[in-house]
Formats: sequence, C-alpha cells, structure tokens
Amino acid sequence: MTALTTDLLVLGSGIAGQTAATAAAEAGIDVILAEKTASLGGSTVMSGGWFAFSDTEEQREAGENDSRELFLKDMQEVGEFRNDPTLLNAYLDRQEAAYRWLKDHGVRFREIEISSGQSARRSHNSAIVDVMAGLHEQFETAGGTTLREHRAIRLLTDETGHVTGARLAGPTGEVDVTARQGVVLATGGFSRGEELLGIFAPEQLAALPFGGRGNTGDGLRLAWKLGADMADMSFVSGTYGSHPETGDVHELLTAYYMGAIIVNRAGERFTDESQSYKTLGTAVLREEEGLGVQIFDASVRALSHPGIPLKDMDAIEALGHLHHADTLEELAAIVGVDAGRLVATVERYNRAIDAGEADELGRTSLCNGVGELRPIVEAPFYAYPAKSLMTTTYCGVKVTPDAEVVDVEGEIIPGLYAIGEVVGGFHGAAYMTGTSLGKGAVFGLHVARQAAARAEEVPA
Ligand SMILES: Cc1cc2nc3c(=O)[nH]c(=O)nc-3n(C[C@H](O)[C@H](O)[C@H](O)COP(=O)(O)OP(=O)(O)OC[C@H]3O[C@@H](n4cnc5c(N)ncnc54)[C@H](O)[C@@H]3O)c2cc1C
Repeated sequence: MTALTTDLLVLGSGIAGQTAATAAAEAGIDVILAEKTASLGGSTVMSGGWFAFSDTEEQREAGENDSRELFLKDMQEVGEFRNDPTLLNAYLDRQEAAYRWLKDHGVRFREIEISSGQSARRSHNSAIVDVMAGLHEQFETAGGTTLREHRAIRLLTDETGHVTGARLAGPTGEVDVTARQGVVLATGGFSRGEELLGIFAPEQLAALPFGGRGNTGDGLRLAWKLGADMADMSFVSGTYGSHPETGDVHELLTAYYMGAIIVNRAGERFTDESQSYKTLGTAVLREEEGLGVQIFDASVRALSHPGIPLKDMDAIEALGHLHHADTLEELAAIVGVDAGRLVATVERYNRAIDAGEADELGRTSLCNGVGELRPIVEAPFYAYPAKSLMTTTYCGVKVTPDAEVVDVEGEIIPGLYAIGEVVGGFHGAAYMTGTSLGKGAVFGLHVARQAAARAEEVPA
C-alpha cells in the first residue's frame, strides 16, 4: 500500500474535476487528480461542448436579450420546479466568474444558440476536446499531479466521520491518499452503470448506452456508503435522438428544434417536439422499437451547421444515417414508416400551421415557446431515424450551494464535496442544454477557491 498526502484530492477528470483541479493548483495548493480510466475527460469530451451562461459578451454582440431572471425561470420550468433554488441561485451568482475563468484559460465560445429548455440563445459552444486538453495542461503547469487508471474504491474517514482521503486502486496496487482540504467527488453520472440504472430507472436500460466509459456511478456509491442523501433519482432520462447505430462519436441531431416533426413507425407524431430533449427521450421509449423518426424538408436541411453539434446534418449524412427522397411516400418506404399515415400526419401538421393554431399535440413553437413553426412542404424530404441515447443521469448526491455533501439527516459530511453530474437536485425533472458543463465549471471553480481559502486559514 502506497500512501500520499495532498491538500485537495479530486476524483474524476471531466469538466467538474478538471476545473476544480486546475483552479486549485493555480491557487497554490497541492492537488491530486485521480482518474479511473486511462484517458481523461469522461463524458465531457464526448459532449456537444455547449455551456449555458446569461448576459455574456457573445450574447450582447449578437443582440440577444437574456437575463439572470429569465435563465432562472427557464431552469425552474424545465425542471418542473423540482430543482433546488439554492443551487440554481448559486449557479447564477457565480456564472460570470466561471465564464470569465474559462475565457482566461483560453476557451473561445464560437457560437451561441437556443436549445433544449431555453427561451433565449444561451448555449455557448466550445471545442470541448481542446478545452479539456488546455485545462489539463494548465493543471500540470501549475504543479498538479495526475493519476490515470486510479479508481477511488473507498472514502477514508477519521473517528468523527470526517472524510480524510480516499483509497485508490491503481495498476501497481492500492494507494491511500490523505487530503487535508477535502475530497471532491467529480466522478460523473451512471449512464454506463447498468446496475444503478436497474435500480433507479430500469426503463432506461432500453436506451442506447453512451457517456464516459468509467461512468458507472462509483461516486454515488462511495457517498451512499457514508449515508449521503440523494435527489432527482426518479428523473433519469436518455436524450433523444441518435441513430440506432451510433458509435462513440457525438451524433445527436435536434432537427426538431429547427422545424422537423418526430413520427413513430406508424407514421404518427406522439409528442410536442418543442419540449426538452430529455422529455422526448422518455417519450420515445414508449414507441415501437423505441424509435422516433425526425422528418423535415429541404428548408430545414438548409439550416445544417457543419461542425456544430446538434445541428450538423452534413456529418450525419456522411455517416449514411440521414435519408432523403423526392416524396414523403418514397421517404417512408426507405425508413420503414407507414406512408399513408405519414402523409396524413404532415398534412394535418401543415394545416395547423397555416391556420395559426396549436396542432393536435399542442405544439406552438420550435423550441420551448420560441421560434415559428415551418410547414413541411419543400422537396426533397429528409428522415433521421433516432433513439434515446443514455448520455447522462443528472441525479445523485445532495449538496449545499458550497458543494458539501449532505447526509440523509440533513447533516454535512465534513471533508466531502461533490460537483458535476454526480450531484442531484440541480436539474429537477429535466435538463436545459449547457447547464451540465456550466455547473461543472461553476461549482468546480467554487470548490477550488473554497479549498484554497481553507488552506490559507489553516496552513498545513
Ligand atoms: C453525447 C453527449 C453530449 C452532451 N452535450 C452536452 C452539452 O453540450 N452541454 C452540457 O452542458 N452537457 C452536455 N452533456 C452532458 C455533459 O457532458 C456531462 O453531464 C458532463 O460532462 C459531466 O461532467 P463531469 O465532470 O461531472 O463528469 P465526466 O465528464 O463524466 O467525468 C467523470 C470522470 O470521473 C471518472 N470516474 C468515475 N468513477 C471514478 C472513480 N471511482 N475514481 C476516479 N475517477 C472516476 C470517469 O471515468 C470520468 O472520466 C452531454 C453528454 C453527452 C454524453
């Protein structure tokens, strides 16, 4: 058994852990970043790279009207008011610091867009793989230590229950790390954790497994063992929609926020497509084969944005996953949808738009109340068959706004912090695009600064 001592031990190298580790190391304290797998970045490096911030330079330059109040209202509405307002307000209070910190660390927000759960263009896109590589490089430059292939298998406590460190299992044996300023769980969700999905959301086992290979819910279990409380466990949902044969690259398309409808094999729509893609992710599981086909016309196809996740139809076409035909009947035959009913569905949908009425499923906008619907009329017509992708779980341990883990009796477990996707209570019933990378950076930066401040108060 090897023994190491540090100030802060960060478990997990996604956006939450990497932000915490880099910021803490730059603040001058000793940091060990332990990552279970051989590669760094978890689900973060597989993500679309969208961060949700309001009142930013990019929004102002684009003339976008957004505010803290609107951001809060949107998060609460998408979360069906099940999310903890103290966490949301902590995010809003600290978002500017995180946004600024990311930019100061070389992050460029190349595009802003409206997306799931938003009523303003609030998603800021970054080249996330480069972002993470840059943050890690800056961590090492600041003197941080990285332990790859080191999985945390136990939290170490003293006789009072204070978390003093963690035991890691590495390639050459076990390592006990003592952490003077605490242990930060940043181990992500359990999108790859069949056992936990089986307990909390068995219906989601039908979704396509995705997310970081190490994301099996270790952090949740470690905290659970110490009596941590949990939140949002009943709201796990996959994200609609990815092609059934998707690989390990990001292949989500949200053409429905640009004007597509979604139909089942019977050629019928089954839900209001303007809702959060998490809500759609659960809705599609009830359809035959868990399949929903996005149907759109040439006017929507023209809105493809190459290189921009969620909007890049060109990349999906290059994979052979986007189909087109001159008529809806031919298209239906290609993708195995009832042709007669598809034509009737599109006709009814177009009529409702022409009449300026809500359609039969109550859809009135492209995305979350924003954007005018487009009739599906211009050939060629396109179809993207897609399923729910189990990308993220967005539920987990309860924390205070200072990321302290809280036990089932509402007491803080001293020395234990949790940030990122392992945390519950932030999103509530559903998720708004960009708030996961956003909260990873916001709370990661906060725990780092708190740890550095504690170290200053009580020097080692
Ligand atoms: C396809 C896809 C697209 C997405 N797009 C977006 C988007 O555009 N915007 C957005 O906000 N969110 C998006 N998300 C969600 C977002 O990427 C994740 O919720 C977020 O990256 C989680 O960050 P994290 O740091 O908490 O965890 P992760 O990035 O998952 O990192 C956790 C790390 O902890 C490691 N780990 C696990 N257990 C242990 C252990 N026992 N010991 C040590 N290490 C451990 C894992 O191996 C992993 O590397 C997307 C997700 C996916 C999959």
